[in-house]
Amino acid sequence: MCSLLKMLLFNVWRKLKYYFLYLSIVCFIYVTLSRLIGLSAEKPKSSVNLRYVAVHIDLKGSPPKITYLVSLLPVLSIYGVNAILMEYEDMFPYVDSIAKISSSNAYKRTELLMFINSAKNLKMEIIPLIQTFGHMEYVLKLKEFAHLRERKKSHKDICPSNPESKVLITTMLKQVIDLHAIIYPLQHIHVGCDEVRNLNVCPKCKKRRLKSGELFIDHVKEVTSIVKEINPSLKVLIWADMLLKPGAPKMYNIHNVEAVSWAYGATPQFSHTYFYNLHHNFKNIWIGTAFKGADGNNATIPNIRHRFLNHMSWLDFILGYKFGGEKNVYNFKGIILTGWSRYTHTAPQCELLPIAMPSLVLNLLLIRSVQSGIDEGPANKISKTMKYVQNCTSTTKTKRNQGFLLDKIY
Ligand SMILES: [Zn+2]
Repeated sequence: MCSLLKMLLFNVWRKLKYYFLYLSIVCFIYVTLSRLIGLSAEKPKSSVNLRYVAVHIDLKGSPPKITYLVSLLPVLSIYGVNAILMEYEDMFPYVDSIAKISSSNAYKRTELLMFINSAKNLKMEIIPLIQTFGHMEYVLKLKEFAHLRERKKSHKDICPSNPESKVLITTMLKQVIDLHAIIYPLQHIHVGCDEVRNLNVCPKCKKRRLKSGELFIDHVKEVTSIVKEINPSLKVLIWADMLLKPGAPKMYNIHNVEAVSWAYGATPQFSHTYFYNLHHNFKNIWIGTAFKGADGNNATIPNIRHRFLNHMSWLDFILGYKFGGEKNVYNFKGIILTGWSRYTHTAPQCELLPIAMPSLVLNLLLIRSVQSGIDEGPANKISKTMKYVQNCTSTTKTKRNQGFLLDKIY
């Protein structure tokens, strides 16, 4: 019996020895590679899981030639960018009743179509940003549209209660959406709605007897319905800062909108109550950082240390984000790296795009690193690096220009 068992085992070993040999080699290679590239099953890692890494191109002041923008796309693609937030301002070639909104050096339709097509070839999404509430200086400065101002003496904000405002906004959005659809239908559109300074002050608005927060939400709903009438599948983004204002409703009831929460400081303060409200009111939340245009309204170069800290703070904040008492990890849909050219349409020019490229690339590399997975916990690599950078003495002094409007110089 014993000799029979030995013979049986010997036969099994003879048949399977190569299998065990191969298995041992594969295990050896896996363990060695894991150690080399830092992967280990014993150290669980989490990533920020951002579906969109978008770069903001702000065309108010010094709009680059379209050929420059086209040449930029492959570079951005290499560093993981899969969307461009195009703040067109007066560079979009509007036609017919709103043709006067376009600057004399606005992009031609053919140029813009070439740019959109180049993005399509790189599988990059273009997200147009068209202001529809505040920051409408480039429209309301014109005498043809001045009667739509919320406050006569300010060309910043449009009156949400004037029926002509709806006509204007509809015409602008439709022209932008239709032009993009020639190459491919838009997936997202950003309708601004940040920093509305004059709200609920004109007789038409006051007559509605709404609180300012309610009036704001009502206009966001109105603009969203305009977009949905043009293209029902188009997703609408807004900046989220007005939802932070005292008196803003706690329940916004605008589920079909996606909120972009922005903070550009080196050490931004985040309110968990605010994010709790955002996550329970909106299906998707985006975050907004700044790679340029956030170090003073007439700065000429970005403060790289501040820009790096700004991105690190955000990534540290959203890594494995949970609320107290909840097990769910809340994801953020995308990150928008903003690159402001001017604080408003009539403000001095700040950092130009080419000089801010090192800041942009540095922060894209940081995002890629965190996207690939990082150890969780208070002693993670982000926290350690942030403390190190915060303790470094800044040797960069922000240079300032003389307040000239360096408009459209290249
Ligand atoms: Zn009004």
